[in-house]
Amino acid sequence: MSVYACIDTEGKVIKNANNLTHADKSKYNFYCINEDCRVKLSLNIYQNANNRFKASYDNESHINNCWAHHEATKTVVYPSKKRDLDEIVNNLMKSINKKDRENKIEKKYSRNNGNKQVTHREMSTLRDIHLYCKAHDINEYLYDKQIKHIFLDNRSEYIYTKYMEEGNKIVCYNMSHYKPNEKFVIKYNGLTLNIYFENNNIYTKVQNKLDLKGKSLSNIVILFAGEWRKERDSVYYTVIKNPKQILQIT
Ligand SMILES: [Zn+2]
Repeated sequence: MSVYACIDTEGKVIKNANNLTHADKSKYNFYCINEDCRVKLSLNIYQNANNRFKASYDNESHINNCWAHHEATKTVVYPSKKRDLDEIVNNLMKSINKKDRENKIEKKYSRNNGNKQVTHREMSTLRDIHLYCKAHDINEYLYDKQIKHIFLDNRSEYIYTKYMEEGNKIVCYNMSHYKPNEKFVIKYNGLTLNIYFENNNIYTKVQNKLDLKGKSLSNIVILFAGEWRKERDSVYYTVIKNPKQILQIT
């Protein structure tokens, strides 16, 4: 189940199930918002803003590990009024102390509030931000910035021919190559984006989390949240201080 679906296979127009009615069932075809999936979806109307899209057609199902079919996508995620993107990214970047608690976030999605299923929640994790940005047009806003200026994926790469504004951003892309124990490198249109690590310990944790061995880097989309600074012309960098800044999407 999911809250969002697109009505064209290019993913240009995305609909929130809760803004639709029974009449819309025959008006549109609905597809998964993951461009690698695009399974046909049906619109299910329920009360209290619980409308959802389901892959219920015969012989049609989401691709394996479709990010748009994750537990987190069953609930409506909205930006918290009490926080902003800088606060969220700064939180992710806090250097880790003794315990690595990244599994805790995943568990949160499956936890029920007594018997009552949670249907709305505030954006807090990297997966929430990913979902929100993918479910909205890049010209729409997340907090005070347009999505294309803070969430860099394949939809917005055309903007970045040689320059990027510095600051907190999330890059959602595949890695071009990496130098073990040193850095990951992304080629993003005209920009080179270097991802450094605070120390070897963090590098090793990230490497274990991603498990890249034997996989083709071009097939793996990863989110990198961080504060991006200019290194030299058309080259920018961020420093990973906590494995939470990184999330593998495909
Ligand atoms: Zn899907």
